[in-house]
Amino acid sequence: MRALVLEKKGELALREIALPLDVGPDDVRIAIHTVGVCGSDVHYYTHGAIGSYVVRAPMVLGHEASGTIVEVGANVRTLKVGDRVCMEPGVPNLSSRATKLGIYNVDPDVSFWATPPVHGILAPQAVHPAAFTYRLPDNVSFAEGAMVEPFAIGMQAAARARIVPGDVAVVVGCGPIGIMIALAALAGGCSKVLISDFSAPKLEIAARYPGIVPVNIGEQSLVEAVAVATDHWGADIVFEASGSPKAFADLFEVVRPGGAVVLVGLPVEPVALNVPAAISKEVRIETVFRYANIFDRALQLIASGKVDLNPLITGTYPFDDSIEAFERAAAAHPEDVKLQILISSEKG
Ligand code: ZN
Repeated sequence: MRALVLEKKGELALREIALPLDVGPDDVRIAIHTVGVCGSDVHYYTHGAIGSYVVRAPMVLGHEASGTIVEVGANVRTLKVGDRVCMEPGVPNLSSRATKLGIYNVDPDVSFWATPPVHGILAPQAVHPAAFTYRLPDNVSFAEGAMVEPFAIGMQAAARARIVPGDVAVVVGCGPIGIMIALAALAGGCSKVLISDFSAPKLEIAARYPGIVPVNIGEQSLVEAVAVATDHWGADIVFEASGSPKAFADLFEVVRPGGAVVLVGLPVEPVALNVPAAISKEVRIETVFRYANIFDRALQLIASGKVDLNPLITGTYPFDDSIEAFERAAAAHPEDVKLQILISSEKG
């Protein structure tokens, strides 16, 4: 099958590769339609590793996908051939201790698309467990279906924050995940979300959503902006979505006493936290690693029309131009949010 293969750091090829397509009794086979280009895919391309996950052999990229079911296993009752679906890319060991606790995202045995050594799905077909495959409601497009995966991270962050209606939140970092956290937080009941970044074009895209207030930290300090917005009380919730070590210095200054700091962005190196500042405000600290039990909720929220992710899709490439899409993503154009690759030209 022809797939987008990361041969090694800095080298991509669109070429034939043997991928397993045997459908087990609980699996479905999917004709892939749309795949989003994720920051992690780009990081593997440019750095060859994320933390302890190192690309040691050619690996197919891509994990944010939608498609159409073309075959179902003998035991599958919930899905049928022709169903339009999106897929949760992380499959845990179903009998593991983490899975039994409901925290399957942190199962040490989880197998996650395009995380070495597991192949991703930038290819015409993939086989996946039916239990991790979700039917798209008729009003959700393939493009939106491929946005469910990154939006699920925003949803997990909002769930971890334990939002109370009316809360004021801050999101540090206006990348795709930052914006999706802001949208999930608003859908979860926040009255407003301040989002900070240096990038004016990114902030402009975020600011088109009602309820999102852009803070350009090239022009104004976040501490000052939050003080003004909250009468010097601080934000109820602060989401860290940049992963930038510098951003961690201000987190406990912008959160209110008794508020929550939710860490989502993954710094590449260990980062120091101001523990005395956190303790003196009795800040609740939460962390987010991917998501668990949230994919279907993310999908339903998109289907409800309460969250429109279409404005975040800023570029679409045909499969033949996948390498160009990755080069574009690696160049980090400030006006790009989410690039997608179309494997199939089927409408919808
Ligand atoms: Zn992703």
